[in-house]
Amino acid sequence: MSRQYNFCAGPAALPTAVLERAREEMLDWRGTGMSVMEMSHRSETYVGIAQQAEQDLRDLMGISDDYAVLFLQGGASSQFSAIPLNLLRGHESADYINTGNWSKKAIAEARRFADVNVAASSEANGFIDVPDPDTWQTRSDAAYLHVTPNETIGGLAYDRLPDSGDVPLVADMSSTILSRPLDVSRFGMIYAGAQKNIGPSGLVVVIVRRDLLGHASPATPTMMDYKVQADSGSMYNTPATYSWYLAGLVFQWLKEQGGLEAMETINRRKADKLYGFIDQSDFYANPIVPAFRSWMNVPFTLADDRLDSEFLQGAEARGLLNLKGHRSVGGMRASIYNAMPESGVDALIDYMASFEKERG
Ligand code: PMP
Repeated sequence: MSRQYNFCAGPAALPTAVLERAREEMLDWRGTGMSVMEMSHRSETYVGIAQQAEQDLRDLMGISDDYAVLFLQGGASSQFSAIPLNLLRGHESADYINTGNWSKKAIAEARRFADVNVAASSEANGFIDVPDPDTWQTRSDAAYLHVTPNETIGGLAYDRLPDSGDVPLVADMSSTILSRPLDVSRFGMIYAGAQKNIGPSGLVVVIVRRDLLGHASPATPTMMDYKVQADSGSMYNTPATYSWYLAGLVFQWLKEQGGLEAMETINRRKADKLYGFIDQSDFYANPIVPAFRSWMNVPFTLADDRLDSEFLQGAEARGLLNLKGHRSVGGMRASIYNAMPESGVDALIDYMASFEKERG
């Protein structure tokens, strides 16, 4: 059986070339006589692999030495608690913007540790846009401002970065990191679960400004203390060695594609095509205000939801997998991260057009 187009939101498709490379190197990594999975994380060989991955990520995103880059465990969700524990720095409150399911989870967890001020929310209109930053009720004494630039479930994305002034901007970029260039210097911290644009699930990449380190609340579990992890090269304990290696292969692949400028061009084209098709159709619909549509996650509904299961079956028969929408939203969702080739989007549009013609 050959590889098919996998539109899963995460764990998501990885570039085939990366998986092939991992397969070639699986049993004997470059003459070492062992798999990367079997190496001591303290060995010179493995430390070299880990450092190369970090350097490649720094190159791709233009991350300066003012920032520590951490490869941690526990997924993006672990950061929902690690963020207040590390970044309150003696403050009591933190600002959060609520734009959907993942913002809500971050807010609920932060409430265990901090006085959370929801400075803006688009919940009242069903999360179809991002509230205008000029209207946000932020607090000047907030420890940080937390945003979710791409809501994976809703398919909602910020159209621009907010200006948080002196308050560190903290962003959950799980489903948008590496999809286009980003000015990292605008952020206090960026974090991303790996299973969309980076690598295997369980790994979380944290990019944090070094001047914010060293102020963790005394109750912070050692494993969650960014300073401890930065000082130990993310090896306070045994890191997720194989996932880190695989992330490194993805970073190398991205460099070979031409880096994030090249990804931006391709990702914009893929998203434009799919939304363009949806908008010209009377049968398919996407609810998000156009300026705030995600390039990575494209939810859409059929005019008659009784046709949903037939649509999904037909898609699967054509090798278009995992198009079912999130259980909280229904309908369909096509996740089109970096590893989804344009031919996959073309194949999806072809199928949608023929389904509409037959059943619409
Ligand atoms: N934030 C966002 C934006 C996500 O999409 C996800 C996962 N879908 C998470 C957080 C949670 O990630 P994890 O499962 O790695 O904890």
